[in-house]
Amino acid sequence: MTQIIDGKAISAQIKDELKGKVAEMKEQGIEICLAVIQVGNDPASTVYVGKKKKACEYIGIKSLAYELPEETGEEELLELIGKLNGRKDVNGILVQLPLPKHIAEEKVLAAIEPVKDVDGFHVQNVGSLCVGKKGFVSCTPAGIIQLLKRYHIEIEGKECVVIGRSNIVGKPMALLLLQENGTVTVTHSRTKNLKEVTSRADILVVAIGKPKMITAEYVKEGAVVIDVGIHRNADNKLCGDVDYESVAPKCSAITPVPGGVGPMTIAMLMYNCVESVALQQ
Ligand code: NAD
Repeated sequence: MTQIIDGKAISAQIKDELKGKVAEMKEQGIEICLAVIQVGNDPASTVYVGKKKKACEYIGIKSLAYELPEETGEEELLELIGKLNGRKDVNGILVQLPLPKHIAEEKVLAAIEPVKDVDGFHVQNVGSLCVGKKGFVSCTPAGIIQLLKRYHIEIEGKECVVIGRSNIVGKPMALLLLQENGTVTVTHSRTKNLKEVTSRADILVVAIGKPKMITAEYVKEGAVVIDVGIHRNADNKLCGDVDYESVAPKCSAITPVPGGVGPMTIAMLMYNCVESVALQQ
């Protein structure tokens, strides 16, 4: 029988654990504060920012919301980040992506103090992950590792194939699987014979951004399949990069969309906010 990996339940568990930890920290006089910056009013970004604020409220983390107009200049945004970097009462700074086209994303992410970069996108944090040093880890791949661990899915020695090499999912995912002693292969849009490579995977992580692209013939019998994709189809229903109906019967375990990887991203953001206190000390 295929095990459905319940990201909603695991993320609720993590948030409850963090809530307890935050309450203990409050008793010691430590308050955690996350600054969330949104530029413009992209509807998907507004939904994500709303969810992040709600999670902060639930856990007991203070959140500061900076909702800036679409026409905000790069300099103005960098100035705000500079001020937040300097504030002792602000532990985490998050700039919701994507940014409007006139603002250079790379420059903005580089401006966030690495010890406040709770999204884990700063090159210093990516470098720390690469060499196995302490730092913030990108939330979606960190959440996937939590799902695997909490479902007691062994990574060590397993053939792990990641489809996608983005900076926020594919690459950090590969590094984390490697850290867990998996045998890791990264595939991408130029990979030849993709099906041949993915069919070797004991653990297949799919982060392509193409609705239902991965069908049963890409998957080995008994594999664990993690679907990172999020799309809205013509009926306004959510689906992933994996064709769930054809793939699920072949797997030993699979994440659904919605309710799989998605909720874990916010839970791990909250985890990073709590961790930020220790990193800043
Ligand atoms: P991206 O567009 O930055 O990267 C996609 C990757 O897929 C690229 O590296 C590309 O080489 C690869 N790719 C494209 N076509 C391919 C093909 N035909 N064969 C093999 N590889 C191919 O996307 P991303 O930011 O990594 O996100 C991937 C998906 O995950 C998107 O659907 C996104 O919405 C979703 N996502 C979900 C969460 C979450 O919290 N659940 C977080 C981040 C991203």
